[in-house]
Amino acid sequence: MPPRRGRAPATGKPAFFNAQELERFVVQRGFDAVVAQRLWRVVIRALRDGGGESDDEVWERASKYCIDGRQKLPKVAVELASQNFRLFSSKLAHVAESKDTQTTKLVIELRDGHRVESVAMRHKSRTTVCVSSQIGCAMGCQFCATGTMNLIGDLDTSEILEQVALITRHECARSRPAPRNVVFMGMGEPLANYQSVSAAVTSLCDPFHFALRKKGVTVSTVGVAPALKKLTREHPEVRVALSLHAPSQELRARIVPAAKQWPLHDLIEALDDHLNSVSRHSGSHDGLMVEYVLLKGVNDRREDADELIALLRGKPVMLNLIPYNPNVTATLHGFEAPSIESCRAFGKIVIEGGLRVRLREEFGQDINAACGQLALATKDIEDLAPAPPAPEPAVASTSVADATAARRRKPRAPPPKPPPPQWTALATASLAAAALAASLAAAAAVLR
Ligand code: SAH
Ligand code: SF4
Repeated sequence: MPPRRGRAPATGKPAFFNAQELERFVVQRGFDAVVAQRLWRVVIRALRDGGGESDDEVWERASKYCIDGRQKLPKVAVELASQNFRLFSSKLAHVAESKDTQTTKLVIELRDGHRVESVAMRHKSRTTVCVSSQIGCAMGCQFCATGTMNLIGDLDTSEILEQVALITRHECARSRPAPRNVVFMGMGEPLANYQSVSAAVTSLCDPFHFALRKKGVTVSTVGVAPALKKLTREHPEVRVALSLHAPSQELRARIVPAAKQWPLHDLIEALDDHLNSVSRHSGSHDGLMVEYVLLKGVNDRREDADELIALLRGKPVMLNLIPYNPNVTATLHGFEAPSIESCRAFGKIVIEGGLRVRLREEFGQDINAACGQLALATKDIEDLAPAPPAPEPAVASTSVADATAARRRKPRAPPPKPPPPQWTALATASLAAAALAASLAAAAAVLR
């Protein structure tokens, strides 16, 4: 097992995406604090303008945005920032693209050598980034590959934001749109790393920083009830996804060990608290997804559906049914994925019971980028066709020649078939999952 992460090493230049450090620096150098905000703005604009640049080229481009005067940013401030900060403290270690080209997985090496994964999911013109908040996870959900790693350490705020920034650069360098949505559904339990995640959420939504819509950010949690209440108070407008997975405390405690610490009744109280606050805050009930991984014979039985209806009926939530993605936990615990027919049958029962439901079709499975599979299988990644080359890749895991050769070896698969019409009718839109973002947005529309 890799060693547990210590405190972030103090060596080297600080990370640019550390808002406090940057502001402190700017003020120390005699600028107004607002200059730090303007630095963020020009750097993110430079990343979004793309071009496969190196860090130096990003700084150069950023500095061009201050001479037109509109940014009211002295050029010397950009120069000083570039000399005193590392644009990225993390780097891309591997990039793998799914055969249907909708999903790209990035393995990101942190400054101390630990690795996490982020996923870019493209759907029409929208791109969603799935970010990691921890290296491994202490929660140990029995079906989750990350859970088998245990917790190695927390990511700090800049490491979370760098995932979004690296994916922005990667996508924009390929003339793809910059990500508009961020979901905390990668490795780790975001609410077990509350401070860093909360500060990252603030930055993602800050108009000077990443300027995402608040509803474009989703925090998925296994149900750390006190932290969920805090999130509700401090970030009432971001979306929450609650990973429920079982309708009773007894079953939940079996497959989600964290349920022993935060029992179902506490969780339901935190959920109600969140729903009330959202409704007070925005006058609507959107913003809460309940995630339920369907495990054959474990939580997909008729009685589970009935209990789930009793638990959630009347609550304005969207139930997201996720067929289990078999991974290492299949061997460890004997879990099996239910057939699509039985997923639909389960969905039909809960819909008839009055719940709003979606069935998520996973994506990126060929690159282990689907839910619960983010557990660093770089061996597998190396076997895959790499992402298409950027005009001038700044950090690439493979050369253009490798990429071309790999594509020749592995012809692209035809696009996936559309979902069967009966399910589409049943659940509004069966999700090709690049559409996790679409799922969240559409769910909100239904709930509004
Ligand atoms: N820790 C957070 C966020 C990361 S997990 C949470 O649990 O919500 C993101 C989602 O992936 C969760 O809903 C989780 O239940 C789901 N997931 C984990 N393992 C899975 C698997 N093997 N198959 C399908 N979904 C899985
Ligand atoms: Fe951790 Fe989420 Fe995986 Fe559970 S599902 S082990 S909380 S990452």
